[in-house]
Amino acid sequence: MSDLETFRQETHRWLDANAPKGIVGMPAAELEGTWGGRKATYPNPDMKVWLDVMAEKGWTAPTWPAEYGGGGLDGEEAKVLAEELKALKLPPPLIGFGLTMIGPTLLRFGNEEQKKEHLPKICRGEIRWCQGYSEPGSGSDLASLQTKAIRDGDHFVITGTKVWTSYADQADWIFALVRSDPDAPKKQEGITFILIDMDDPGVTVSPILLISGKSPFCETHFAEVRVPVKNVVHEIGAGWTVAKALLGHERTMIADAFGASGMKPRKGSSRSFLSDLAVTHLGEVEGRIADPLVRDQVAAMEMDSRAFALTVQRTKDAAHAGHQPGSESSMFKVYGTELNMQRYELMVRILGPNALGWEGPGFEESELNTTREWLRSRGNSIEGGTTEVQLNIIAKHVLGLPV
Ligand SMILES: Cc1cc2nc3c(=O)[nH]c(=O)nc-3n(C[C@H](O)[C@H](O)[C@H](O)COP(=O)(O)OP(=O)(O)OC[C@H]3O[C@@H](n4cnc5c(N)ncnc54)[C@H](O)[C@@H]3O)c2cc1C
Repeated sequence: MSDLETFRQETHRWLDANAPKGIVGMPAAELEGTWGGRKATYPNPDMKVWLDVMAEKGWTAPTWPAEYGGGGLDGEEAKVLAEELKALKLPPPLIGFGLTMIGPTLLRFGNEEQKKEHLPKICRGEIRWCQGYSEPGSGSDLASLQTKAIRDGDHFVITGTKVWTSYADQADWIFALVRSDPDAPKKQEGITFILIDMDDPGVTVSPILLISGKSPFCETHFAEVRVPVKNVVHEIGAGWTVAKALLGHERTMIADAFGASGMKPRKGSSRSFLSDLAVTHLGEVEGRIADPLVRDQVAAMEMDSRAFALTVQRTKDAAHAGHQPGSESSMFKVYGTELNMQRYELMVRILGPNALGWEGPGFEESELNTTREWLRSRGNSIEGGTTEVQLNIIAKHVLGLPV
């Protein structure tokens, strides 16, 4: 038997023995606490047990080095672990920007002290992170950001406002871009990448209400916040390099989350989620969706989703093998988010008048959720860099077109 097959069998046995039964079959989105952090609550206590046993094993961050709290697995082993989790219907023990964005960035650019300080806390789900890039006047043109960082001995004094900061109200720390040298010849050169504790005096957040009815993001204000210079990642004034590398991780994560995962079938149904929805609302003829146009659209959507999921899996395999995501992550971001938006358009079309509810009786909970998620999906082509900006990056850096 190959080493990998032995690893698979041991992994299967270990997961089966250690996963609490209360989380089997639960989608991650339904499990409070999956994002971790000081403010996390665990209404399902099994979720916390699951997080702790997996963190102890190093499997919340399977490929990170064991000395920083990871599992030290190679790419092949990490893939086996993911497959066995899926086979046993176990949700991820932890998700979030720590694992997907700042962790990989610290592994590449952080110094030893920063890695030892932050990575184990991410792996154990103790600290939740948010991203402080965008400002009221700087989104697509991110390098024009104006949040000031003035050096005062071994501290920077930071003043300014970040906007659209996803989950800032839930986060413990923020990784932020600040302008440390307003006189640098190029705007990219005066930017520093720095880590800030959200509990520091002078940091305040105010949630922004979205069209979907939720407030998943905030304005984050810094009023003369004193941040130690040792919290600078990489070099002072070299933050743009770090920022771009992190965006590669962010775009890959967004593509995976929105585009590739598709929809889980309803419990007990042998059909896919979309087919099930279409049959419920439009009826069936000889075991097929009654409306031939919708049947065609559902089939096309499922094939595109499957093909995209496989392509994303290839990039995950490459990432496990040490490949850093480059400009190609923009292609995945555009395709994945467009696919997700089309998926919600199709769901709303299938629901017809039942998609017109906002609250109250007359609508199923799942119908109200679909309407809200459809509205939320409109932001997919904006977050992580707009589709237009990604197309510019693809034209310039992937296709080498003159721009
Ligand atoms: C759901 C959601 C979550 C987010 N979470 C975060 C977060 O956690 N942290 C964070 O820092 N930011 C976050 N953002 C902000 C996001 O990164 C910005 O909204 C995005 O980069 C666009 O910036 P803007 O909103 O200022 O739009 P603008 O830059 O003002 O763009 C307006 C329009 O002009 C177009 N445009 C601009 N420049 C060009 C160009 N050169 N060529 C062609 N078209 C162009 C854009 O495509 C867009 O259609 C989030 C946004 C959303 C919607």
